Amino acid sequence: MSLIVQKFGGSSVADAEKLLHIAHITKAAYDAGNDVIVVVSAQGDTTDRLIDRSRELTASPSPRELDALLTAGEQISAALAAMALQTLGVPAVSLSAWQLPIRSDGVHGDAKIERIGKERVKTELAKRRVVVVAGFQGVDGAGDATTLGRGGSDYSAVALAAAFGAEKCLIYTDVDGVYTTDPRVCPTARRLDRVSYEDMYALSRAGAQVLHDKCVALAQEKGVEPEVRSCEADSVGTRVVPDGGCQGVTGVTRRESEGDAYAAVTLVGAALPSLEIEKTAILALVAAGVAVHGVDAGERTLTLYVERGQSRKAVRAAHDAVI
Ligand code: ASP
Ligand code: MG
Repeated sequence: MSLIVQKFGGSSVADAEKLLHIAHITKAAYDAGNDVIVVVSAQGDTTDRLIDRSRELTASPSPRELDALLTAGEQISAALAAMALQTLGVPAVSLSAWQLPIRSDGVHGDAKIERIGKERVKTELAKRRVVVVAGFQGVDGAGDATTLGRGGSDYSAVALAAAFGAEKCLIYTDVDGVYTTDPRVCPTARRLDRVSYEDMYALSRAGAQVLHDKCVALAQEKGVEPEVRSCEADSVGTRVVPDGGCQGVTGVTRRESEGDAYAAVTLVGAALPSLEIEKTAILALVAAGVAVHGVDAGERTLTLYVERGQSRKAVRAAHDAVI
């Protein structure tokens, strides 16, 4: 018997039908004799909606109150996910971060996990219950709710997997793994079977939303190997591992910030920085009619700045030229 952590993102828990679907996935792992910790994000775009509601009142909400508001999203998902499991006859209990506790520092909106209390979860697992933990939440030294940064439920999942020595840390999302670039932007994007911690971290930092950057850093530090996959039955997914094996360029991602004239298109891989690859990428962009307004070379990265409206075209051109 082993311990499995399963994390489900917002789109996988968006409504009752989806909750029952993921409950079946958890039930299969539970029925096979495993202990299961489930980590959930807020349903659908709940977090964005809650932020909008705060903005109706103030342009700069108090960080403490914003966290008190946003943690409610994951609270709802955790309770509903536990109910979905119970509906299938699986004993389950939902827990918030303060019930464990998942102790974090006090940086509201971007808190770091410091320590996880294990007793309560162990007691529940010993009763053969599935434990559903609200992701994205922490509790600071003052006893106040914190959030771990956008997309932070991945980070919760890896921290729990590390704390409990889980055999597997499965990150279920709406794509079936990590791709060489966003498949919605680029039709030639390819799923990676494995990706190294270093490349995954650089991709997350540069805007790839598939995994949270703090989650990847913690996974590397603790030796957890997260597997990103979709909720489809036949999903193979991508494993984040110490050595992903790719020596060239692994992926291309982009980052746009509201109000900025330029978007950053970043290439990531062990071969970077490289003048030759830089030349190839720039020539490909120019051939596609995209002007390059700036270049930044970093460790394992090469970033090209293009006009915001052209970033998708730039991603396609760079991807097809270097991968
Ligand atoms: N619900 C939070 C967010 O939208 C955390 C997460 O999804 O992981 O950022
Ligand atoms: Mg996410």
